[in-house]
Amino acid sequence: MDLKELQEFVDKWIKTIGETDWTRWNYFSRLVEEVGEVGEVLSIKEGHKKHKKPEDFDLEVELGDILFVTSALANKLGYDLNKCFEKVKKKLDSEFGELS
Ligand SMILES: [Mg+2]
Repeated sequence: MDLKELQEFVDKWIKTIGETDWTRWNYFSRLVEEVGEVGEVLSIKEGHKKHKKPEDFDLEVELGDILFVTSALANKLGYDLNKCFEKVKKKLDSEFGELS
């Protein structure tokens, strides 16, 4: 699935199952929450935080949650994630030079 397909899937999911009245702030808040969950799972996986069943936590799912919410926020803002990343790539190329 590419970024465009991801955004289309998230848009369809939210319109059929999710919360259609969420604001940009709701998505931003959820994004922060999901980032925190990545931190918590990393902490458990690396033994900094004890848990009876660390195998119950899946870092791939948590990172996927971030992609989902990032896509939802981009959709809400009317942004194309491919274009967003192209801007980041351009910034990196400018600061560090292009990859050969
Ligand atoms: Mg999560």
